[in-house]
Formats: sequence, C-alpha cells, structure tokens
Amino acid sequence: RVYQEVLDKKTADLERLNNQYRVLAEETHTLKDSVITDELTSVYNKRFFLNRLQLEFERCQKEKRLFSLIMIDIDFFKRLNDTYGHVVGDKVLKAVALVLKKQTPDDAYVCRYGGEEFSVIMPCHGVVDAMSVAQSFQENIQDLTFPEVDRNLNVTISQGVCTIDFAYDESKGIKSFDTALQCADEELYRSKINGRNRISINNLVGPKE
Ligand code: GH3
Ligand code: MG
Ligand code: MG
Repeated sequence: RVYQEVLDKKTADLERLNNQYRVLAEETHTLKDSVITDELTSVYNKRFFLNRLQLEFERCQKEKRLFSLIMIDIDFFKRLNDTYGHVVGDKVLKAVALVLKKQTPDDAYVCRYGGEEFSVIMPCHGVVDAMSVAQSFQENIQDLTFPEVDRNLNVTISQGVCTIDFAYDESKGIKSFDTALQCADEELYRSKINGRNRISINNLVGPKE
C-alpha cells in the first residue's frame, strides 16, 4: 500500500510537470512568433525582413540563383486616414496585407516594412515571376471594396521591383543586399513620380532585351 501511494504521488507529480512543460512550450512559441510578426497585419515585421533579406540574398548569391525584391507603398494613404479615420486606415492595411499574402508564392516572404509600406522577398524567382506577382498585387488591391465604409473608397499601390540573376558574372559587382533594397526603393520612387498605381522594375543583373 505504501508503494502504491508513493507511485500515485510520483505519477501525479509527473503529470503536473508535463502540463507545465506544455504550457511553457506554447508560450515560447507565441513569444517567438510575436518577435517576427507585425501585430496589426500578421505579416512578418521589419526586423524579420532585414534578417531574412540578408540571409536569402546571400544564399541566392552563393548558389547562383535568381533573386527578386518588391517594395510596395499604398498611394495617398494619409488622405485616406484624414477622410475616413485611422480605424478604417487600419482596416485597409489589413485587407492589403491579406491580398499580398494570398498572391505571394509559398516560398516568398511578405513583410510590413513601415507604416503603409510592405516588402516581398522572392528567393529563386526572377523578372517573369516578380512582374506577374506585382501585377496580381496591383489588380487585386485595386479591386478591393469597402461597401460598409464607402462605395467609392478604392485603394491603389505603387511598386518598385529589383531582380538579379546571380548566374551572371556581372552579379559579382553586387556586394550586399543593401544594393537590392536601394534599387527596389528607387523603382518605387519612380512609380510614385510617374503617377502612382504602377510598377517600375530594374532587372539589375540578368538578360537584357
Ligand atoms: P504617397 O502616395 O506619396 O505614398 O502618399 P501617402 O499619403 O501614402 O504617404 P505619407 O507617407 O504622406 O503618409 C503615410 C501615412 O500612413 C501617414 C500615417 O499617418 C499613416 N500610417 C502609418 N502607419 C499607420 C497605421 O498603422 N495605421 C494607420 N491607420 N495609418 C498609418
Ligand atoms: Mg510611405
Ligand atoms: Mg504611401
């Protein structure tokens, strides 16, 4: 009987420990997620973006792969906030992020770069894929409607795309992921000054037609 009591106690102790371990493991998982996730939109945050950009850029470089980066900025977002308020602004940000996630290939990463700016890292994808993804972003975001807010509310984005084919010898001149980031940013700027709701691309290294 004494043995049975000791055994029961030990079993209970083990069960308790096991439960504690499970809760702790779940909490660790949630905490890890929150470090790399943007709270509002649930896409990756800027911290994740910069780390992953460097990682994927260097991997593609080493393996002589294709590499694409898309920078996205919502057009006239300040006006949207001023007209409809921040709550609607947040709603639009979430809707845009959802479209981006849905239209992005499984091996690519959608991130929130800043306020109303997003970035998409596409390792092992070149000009053709990047342009088709950017086009589907543009079309699907243009098609978003918010009838509960205003039938006339529509959203457009400007995009800047940079693509590199590391199989080309010229790519040896590109030392760091900064170059790709800067290049995509310049293209985004070009989309803005050329009238917004458009895509600009610089195929930095690759076949020139
Ligand atoms: P452009 O077409 O040149 O990009 O103009 P813009 O108005 O979109 O650009 P601007 O940089 O002037 O404004 C960005 C606005 O985004 C300003 C800021 O209040 C808003 N914003 C940034 N983060 C958030 C957010 O988390 N929620 C909401 N609702 N608004 C945000
Ligand atoms: Mg902006
Ligand atoms: Mg903007």
